[in-house]
Amino acid sequence: MDAATLAKDVIAGNRRALARAITLVESARPDHRAMATELMEHIKDADRQALRTGLSGTPGVGKSTLIESFGMMLIGKGMKVAVLAVDPSSARSGGSILGDKTRMEMLSREKNAFIRPSPSQSELGGVARRTREAVALCEAAGYDIILIETVGVGQSETVVSEMSDLFVLLLAPAGGDELQGVKRGIMEMADMILVNKADGDLLPAAKRTCSDYAGALRLIRKRPQDPEGFPKAMTVSALQEDGLAEAWDDMQALIAWRRENGFFDARRAEQAEYWFGQEIRLGLLGQLEREPLKSTVDDLARQVAQGAMTPTRAAADVLAALKEG
Ligand code: GDP
Repeated sequence: MDAATLAKDVIAGNRRALARAITLVESARPDHRAMATELMEHIKDADRQALRTGLSGTPGVGKSTLIESFGMMLIGKGMKVAVLAVDPSSARSGGSILGDKTRMEMLSREKNAFIRPSPSQSELGGVARRTREAVALCEAAGYDIILIETVGVGQSETVVSEMSDLFVLLLAPAGGDELQGVKRGIMEMADMILVNKADGDLLPAAKRTCSDYAGALRLIRKRPQDPEGFPKAMTVSALQEDGLAEAWDDMQALIAWRRENGFFDARRAEQAEYWFGQEIRLGLLGQLEREPLKSTVDDLARQVAQGAMTPTRAAADVLAALKEG
């Protein structure tokens, strides 16, 4: 099948075509990459926009439980929901965070839900491209919301927030008064903080954690892309389905405000530029790791190590060789 036909089938909402297209963009084979690049150009024809929502949280915080209940709620409202994952650790652990079939049991049976495990690739740059292209494919296929899940391991939050319209940080109630060691950089990325497990015995701790984070968010400089009251911290119970409707109302209100004020499109434009830059970097690094340049680099590295050449001169030689192609 050619790229144009596959794109047409994806845009027509054919799930098998979508799954196949994602497999294609996940492939590192040069002929697959060429076809994937063409596919992504055709996909633009769909001219559809989903709400791309990043969701980050450490293992055990309740991401899959939340996606299941939140996803089912949205499906109940007549929406189509796609779930993707960025999991840079999947290659190491040998499994994917969405590989477990027991996760999101109800959602995975819904015809209006599409769940895709994370690609098992070690390098975050590669995972990022594949997920970003999978997001665009789901969007073209007519999904209304795309949940992009990641485990909080530092760098992956940046990757996910760079492909999301909205970034949600999921936290669990803290035992003590510590702020769970959430890094400032990650707090600054969050549009909403949801403190999960606000039920039963954990309710008081969840409320306390929520007000701690609400306080911390107020200390962070107000960003131009935020209306009054955002970024916001609130409590939810994914298990008891509490607070999810309120969270959805707030998400919609935030996005509506950003659309009206130009921030939605501006963010997407910035992201497109960011990914353009990343693709160039990834491509250049790829060239350095392939022959004929690889031998040159290795040889120069040895000379630098032996003190026979300065690092600056050796790097200049590599860049000159790159230019010559
Ligand atoms: P993930 O690793 O972030 O995907 O977390 P899971 O969704 O697998 O949840 C981890 C554990 O927390 C499971 O035992 C869930 O049943 C439990 N859990 C998830 N959400 C809630 C909640 O809202 N309340 C309570 N009490 N437990 C929850």
